[in-house]
Amino acid sequence: MDENCIFCKIVAGIIPSYTVYEDDTVKAFLDLSQTTPGHTLVIPKKHIANIYEYNPDLAANIFSHIPMIATAIKNSDPKIKGLNIINNNGELAGQTIFHSHFHIIPRYSNSDTFS
Ligand code: 5GP
Ligand code: ZN
Repeated sequence: MDENCIFCKIVAGIIPSYTVYEDDTVKAFLDLSQTTPGHTLVIPKKHIANIYEYNPDLAANIFSHIPMIATAIKNSDPKIKGLNIINNNGELAGQTIFHSHFHIIPRYSNSDTFS
């Protein structure tokens, strides 16, 4: 655990979150700032900063979870017509929390444009 990391504190239960999915290695929880309803973050419980720090086993594990979590979100609401999956790496790319995470952002209609 990185003592200064918000997402490590969420994993540890020190900061509360709304859990969407959890097992020994992965946690998915609602983003505090919902781009659209159901906006979820998927993280490895192990602290790694970004995509460059995954070893093959950790990469295989997180990527094996994302389709299952995305499908559960999609199936949770018939109004969801699409999903964006986004992973920001580095400040220039919009990363603000330096514990690797994947945004799953439901899309509801044509007027719900990408942002
Ligand atoms: P990034 O910009 O690094 O790709 O995304 C970080 C995300 O973490 C943002 O969408 C932000 O709303 C979310 N976030 C920041 N602090 C918290 C928090 O304490 N709890 C939760 N659930 N999400 C957070
Ligand atoms: Zn962390």
